[in-house]
Amino acid sequence: MIYADNAATTQVSQTAINAMLPYLSELYGNPSSLYEFGQKAKEALEDARARVAKCLGCEAREITFTSGGSEADNQAITSAAYAGAKKGKKHIISTAFEHHAVLHTLKKLEKEGFEVTLLDVHSTGIVTAEEVAAAIRPDTALVTIMYANNEVGTIQPIKEIGAVCREKGVPFHTDAVQAAGHLHINVAEQNIDMLSLSAHKFHGPKGVGVLYARKGTRLFNLIEGGAQERGKRAGTENVPGIVAMAAALEEACANIDKNSAHQMALREKLIDGLDKIPYSELNGNRENRLPGNVNFCFEGIEGESMLLLLDDKGICASSGSACTSGSLDPSHVLLAIGRPHEVAHGSLRLSLGEDITEEQVDYLIASVTEVVTYLRNMSPFWRDLMTGKRQHVFAE
Ligand SMILES: *Cc1c(COP(=O)(O)O)cnc(C)c1O
Repeated sequence: MIYADNAATTQVSQTAINAMLPYLSELYGNPSSLYEFGQKAKEALEDARARVAKCLGCEAREITFTSGGSEADNQAITSAAYAGAKKGKKHIISTAFEHHAVLHTLKKLEKEGFEVTLLDVHSTGIVTAEEVAAAIRPDTALVTIMYANNEVGTIQPIKEIGAVCREKGVPFHTDAVQAAGHLHINVAEQNIDMLSLSAHKFHGPKGVGVLYARKGTRLFNLIEGGAQERGKRAGTENVPGIVAMAAALEEACANIDKNSAHQMALREKLIDGLDKIPYSELNGNRENRLPGNVNFCFEGIEGESMLLLLDDKGICASSGSACTSGSLDPSHVLLAIGRPHEVAHGSLRLSLGEDITEEQVDYLIASVTEVVTYLRNMSPFWRDLMTGKRQHVFAE
């Protein structure tokens, strides 16, 4: 099997498994218990917090553990919105191609009377700091822009956007779920006030994540109850998951340069190979993208059919987000970068892992080429394109 869906989730590393095992077995105490046995768990928790903070370039007390990226996004955005509203600021700036954890939170806030500006991400899949600056108003409560897009992999100018926000006194949150452990992050240097990450995107376990909030940032609770996480996130902490996350993040961050050099070389080979398929195009800027991300649109193809045929060939891949949402709408990300509906339906995302090999890339190129040709030969839509009844979107 070739697992080429690392943007969806990653395999838990042996380092992470080894780190968490003691806290699943003998060291099962509750970190809130006062006796020595509970305090052992508490120590592990605080050690993990310090190590995560070190990876991000912040202080331990600025780290809140959550159930994952979605919760961190929800809490960051809701907190900044409510803090802003108290000062009469009810305007939020984001982009059209955020993850649904962000977009759906913004939708909810709109129903509560907030006004949301979604910036254009252009065909490149990149927003500029100048565009962010131009959108900021006196009543802007928050700018939330993802670090790297989960579908097309494009990386935003985070430091520059952060600088603009800092200068104008507007809190800046970034959903860094795809970036953490894959790109160098330093929240202090990059002017980031709040940041979300999720362990299962960098070889940690599922169901655990982090919300970094710069000191002085007011957090509102999504979950009420006990006083865990400085009273900002109730519920007994997921000690095994948190310990594993810290170990996975440390390992990933220590190997970013080595891993990304390897992934980028094979990513380029894969892009060159798929580019030879006629009437296809890479989605998003080629240079400024996650080391393992390849995302193509093929004319005259249904993404879902392609995934099933690739599955038969032992390839795990993804197509837009239509399958996950259970709807037939094409991916909002591909529409946001200007892909027309008919080609947005024919998208394929291959997100390579750190251990991807050249032979696997050769197999991916051969398999995708074969599947695209096969599906096109059966497609009445493709026949219309070839007989000139329909116009091509892409050049041959
Ligand atoms: C996966 C992902 C999330 C959601 O994280 P979970 O831990 O699965 O809740 C949020 N944002 C982005 C960009 C993601 O890729």
